[in-house]
Amino acid sequence: MSTDRIKLIGVPYDAKSSFLNGPVDAPDAIRKALFSGASNLFSESGFDLGKLGGFREEADLEIENSEAGFDVIAEATSKMLAADSRPIFLGGDHSITFPLVKAIAQSHRPSTIVHLDAHPDLYDEFEEDRFSHACPFARIMEESLTDRLIQIGIRTANEHQREQAEKFGVEMIELPEIPTDLGFSPDDTVYISLDLDVFDPAFAPGISHHEPGGMTVREVIGIIHSINAPIIGADVVELNPHRDVNGVTAMVAAKMVKEIVGKMAV
Ligand code: MN
Ligand code: MN
Repeated sequence: MSTDRIKLIGVPYDAKSSFLNGPVDAPDAIRKALFSGASNLFSESGFDLGKLGGFREEADLEIENSEAGFDVIAEATSKMLAADSRPIFLGGDHSITFPLVKAIAQSHRPSTIVHLDAHPDLYDEFEEDRFSHACPFARIMEESLTDRLIQIGIRTANEHQREQAEKFGVEMIELPEIPTDLGFSPDDTVYISLDLDVFDPAFAPGISHHEPGGMTVREVIGIIHSINAPIIGADVVELNPHRDVNGVTAMVAAKMVKEIVGKMAV
């Protein structure tokens, strides 16, 4: 495919964070790590993100970081996306995944969402907010924006979220289980939603909700590389640059962008 369809889009938004703010500043931090002289722009598969047409860097979505801003994320995304583009969004807190997937689903609904996270984010509501960053996958499943939701890296499920997973038919794979074959069929299309707290905080301390016992960078790269179906969109969310240590989490986020774009470009 023509790789200029791959678009890098910042979504500076954290008004739905329940604990700490900070992800509003994440798009800049991830881009700074991605384009720093500390590393090159090659994915491990050998795709050069730096070559002409490797991907297109778009401006950040123009949104207010407030309740009102949330309503316009889907609209702004729809306007920006041509039907055949493959966006990779730099969050932002995880609440943005619902409006982003809603916008994408208008033109190419993903058959499967691969969701990497310490948390299931399936709350019916959290602190009286149905659009909290703890709820996006409940909203996505209610609106049937995908056929199949696979959650990987989960280590905080409670009774309510297990009931929600059961209700929506979510495939919740809890640590220590790490799947090796996600069982795609030839017609599947995949959206990846990567919450950086899926990693053990030792690898990615710059997040709001430290949850020990998480995945290694190599394990998550292994999951991304194992996806043998077209990736039509992705987000990398929940970087909190104010909690980062020497920019290591921003660099992990940038590495994930390179590996996801490398797979998108295949
Ligand atoms: Mn999340
Ligand atoms: Mn999380």
